[in-house]
Amino acid sequence: MSECIFCKIVKRELPGQIVFENDFVMVFKDINPVAPTHLLLIPKKHIKNICDPELLKDNLPSALVEAVQKVANDLGIAESGFRVVVNRGLDAGEAVPHLHFHLISGRKLNWPPG
Ligand code: 5GP
Ligand code: ZN
Repeated sequence: MSECIFCKIVKRELPGQIVFENDFVMVFKDINPVAPTHLLLIPKKHIKNICDPELLKDNLPSALVEAVQKVANDLGIAESGFRVVVNRGLDAGEAVPHLHFHLISGRKLNWPPG
């Protein structure tokens, strides 16, 4: 989508601190981190949210989970711990309508979340 901020980061029309990308997925630093490590993992294709049926095409769920595994291994947090969060809808505080996995790490994370 032309006006979508995450699509613009994918197209390099907006700056992003990109830490990993391949043909299907991009990983970049969240602009407003809530922990020492706070990354956003997105499909490069504009998928609206986790309920978008388009997500189920092109093995995108696998590509996203593969990126979670790769980044967690590269950062050395696969064993020490991290959290993956997807916010959907008003009740969850979803703000950007392009699917993104938050990968949060680097401090003790409370449970249950607020
Ligand atoms: P949501 O609330 O939709 O799950 O999360 C949206 C996330 O995107 C927030 O954590 C917010 O800080 C981040 N964000 C919003 N705009 C930008 C941006 O332009 N660049 C980056 N890197 N992150 C952004
Ligand atoms: Zn988009």
